[in-house]
Amino acid sequence: MEKRQIKGQKELREKVLDAGLCTNCGACLNLCPYHASYQDNMIIIDSCDREEGRCYAFCPRTYTDLQSLRQNLFNPDEFTPELGPFKGFYMTRAADPKVRRSAQHGGTVTALLSLALQEGLIDAAVIAEEGGTFLPAGFVAKTPLEVVQRARSKFVVSPNVAAFNQAAKSGSEKIGVVATPCQALALAKMRLKPFPQKDGNIDKLHLVIGLFCGWALSWRELKSLLKGKMGENSIIGLDIPPSKHHSLEIHTPNGIREIFLDEVLPAVRKACQYCYDMTAEFSDVSVGSARLPEGWEAARGWNQVIVRTRMGQELMDLARSRGLLEFRDMPEGNWEKLKNASVNKKRAAIQNLVQRSGSTQDLLYLDYQDPVLRTIMG
Ligand SMILES: Cc1cc2nc3c(=O)[nH]c(=O)nc-3n(C[C@H](O)[C@H](O)[C@H](O)COP(=O)(O)OP(=O)(O)OC[C@H]3O[C@@H](n4cnc5c(N)ncnc54)[C@H](O)[C@@H]3O)c2cc1C
Repeated sequence: MEKRQIKGQKELREKVLDAGLCTNCGACLNLCPYHASYQDNMIIIDSCDREEGRCYAFCPRTYTDLQSLRQNLFNPDEFTPELGPFKGFYMTRAADPKVRRSAQHGGTVTALLSLALQEGLIDAAVIAEEGGTFLPAGFVAKTPLEVVQRARSKFVVSPNVAAFNQAAKSGSEKIGVVATPCQALALAKMRLKPFPQKDGNIDKLHLVIGLFCGWALSWRELKSLLKGKMGENSIIGLDIPPSKHHSLEIHTPNGIREIFLDEVLPAVRKACQYCYDMTAEFSDVSVGSARLPEGWEAARGWNQVIVRTRMGQELMDLARSRGLLEFRDMPEGNWEKLKNASVNKKRAAIQNLVQRSGSTQDLLYLDYQDPVLRTIMG
């Protein structure tokens, strides 16, 4: 099938970049001198006439054989169509209150990464750093302190896979990456080694901690929204509470302000409407916000965690045995709620892809015959 073929930069430009599908995940960066990330976009600095390139092969928006990724990278017996590979579902938070205070929610991501560094399971952690500009970039942390200092969610894409590519070339041997779903997908495509002679860097990937992700915001649109709403007031961070709140939270030194979600949605990165994955299914462990019967004020201090691989399970077990993560019972119904949210995102993505291509048999980067996708569509 023509779509399955790996192509080069020319087709990447045409089918992904010019088509508005690029997520700026960073997978095509730091492999060659021709691409760069500039102000929330991947840009082509110079043209390349290779007919087949890693840039095209790794991109999460070129043809992706999801079934082959699932079968090669995960245990097929531990799989749910709605939420992907699955070993366990937990509600956790960092035991250390200092970590929790620095973190977006319960600080589970920060606690797990810090532990992995301390134990030598990884020697570098690719995370996101922002510096007050709302334009994040990948940062390679070597110590738990560097990880804690860069906690919290940045709602503009951080091209973390670019930082992974750089770290793998620059001496790190065991790398952990915090990844949004598109980034976890790109890393999974790398793991299949479409160019065996050139794909040695991916062997240095030892851990992927995925973030649940509904969408990311466009940097320009977010800046202009915040300028209009907040003026020069200082902003500590943002958050997206559960959908019934229908708002974006702006955290300031004086408390939380909310912006009605209808005003925020036009600022969502356009490429996100084609994303089929809400829970970073191609990760070792995926982490998102929690839901509790007590409401959002209590839930925001916890995380829901899906463990997907043996590596992920071992890290969680170690964090539990060391007392670095606290666990609480998962409220009844949370798994079903998460499934529903994930299915809604998948269905919306498929509808948008069909609308874009004009055919139910052309899902651009996805295969309409993929068995899981067909189950989801019913
Ligand atoms: C764009 C975006 C959208 C999200 N949407 C949802 C959602 O719809 N539902 C949901 O439940 N959760 C969502 N999350 C995840 C949620 O915001 C928290 O990241 C998650 O609950 C983990 O919390 P924590 O306290 O363990 O994180 P922390 O301990 O604070 O650690 C977060 C880690 O993520 C890294 N990071 C921050 N921003 C990015 C980024 N843009 N790309 C890559 N790495 C990053 C940080 O450097 C840090 O290492 C989203 C996150 C992002 C970045």
